[in-house]
Amino acid sequence: MAWYPGAKKMELQPESDDQPAIRPTQFILHSIVAPWTPQRTYEYWRDSTNLESHFGLGYDGSLGQFIGTETRADANAAANRRADGTGAVSLESASNLQASDPWTPAQVEALVQLGAWLHEKHGIPLRICRTADDPGYGYHRLFNAWNPSAHSCPGDARVKQFKEVVFPGIVARATGKTTNPEEDPMAGMTKQDVHNAVWRIDDVPAGSTEANKANTTWVPETFLRGTFENTVKILTMEAAQSAAISKLAQLIGSDVDTDQVVAAVQRAIADAVIKVSVDINSTQNQES
Ligand SMILES: [Zn+2]
Repeated sequence: MAWYPGAKKMELQPESDDQPAIRPTQFILHSIVAPWTPQRTYEYWRDSTNLESHFGLGYDGSLGQFIGTETRADANAAANRRADGTGAVSLESASNLQASDPWTPAQVEALVQLGAWLHEKHGIPLRICRTADDPGYGYHRLFNAWNPSAHSCPGDARVKQFKEVVFPGIVARATGKTTNPEEDPMAGMTKQDVHNAVWRIDDVPAGSTEANKANTTWVPETFLRGTFENTVKILTMEAAQSAAISKLAQLIGSDVDTDQVVAAVQRAIADAVIKVSVDINSTQNQES
């Protein structure tokens, strides 16, 4: 019996002890036509039917294993165990109630990892089965011998994914052309993840004016935004002061009274401040 280290072992009895051994030569994928977790799939096999698959795959990529891969499981008719002792490893995957949705990215990744492990562990050849008995990888409806009741399993979207993404992914992983994301901490990271890791990590000591307050660490983004806002304030103040100074200079020696000077200076300041605001907003719009 072989148990995949990437799956949670949920051993199904009495099948696990009672069913005969196989030499696994195929991997056949199914959709279970229900949005089930591995635990729910396990309970279904245990409580509601005498059929079962080796594996159950949840939408989130979680895997349960119900039967060892060297024991027969009953999900694909004639392929379960042949007279020569070979048989198929089967996997049921969570799907919608019509089995019309594609596998999620997490499901695809789990299928690729498990498919590569089956190649490594049991020597399943890296090809799509050419006949019902041919060693390799496939999906339930690929051959009538596996699917005598003509289910559409695993559904059109997943058949397409199997051919275009899952099976090529298994080949690439098994031959070392792609890495296991668990071994590559950067794999699967989005730009947003990188942004958050840099700009939103809350461990930069707060600015000197804040240091004695309760919030002693800030995220870098706060400093960035604060710096921008303070720059705007300083530019505005600087523009207001320049406007006031030049207006005062113009009025030196003229015989206007104080009220007129104040009014003229205030107008000059207001115009200058509006201009700063317009300049800053247009710069931001260009850059966003
Ligand atoms: Zn099926």
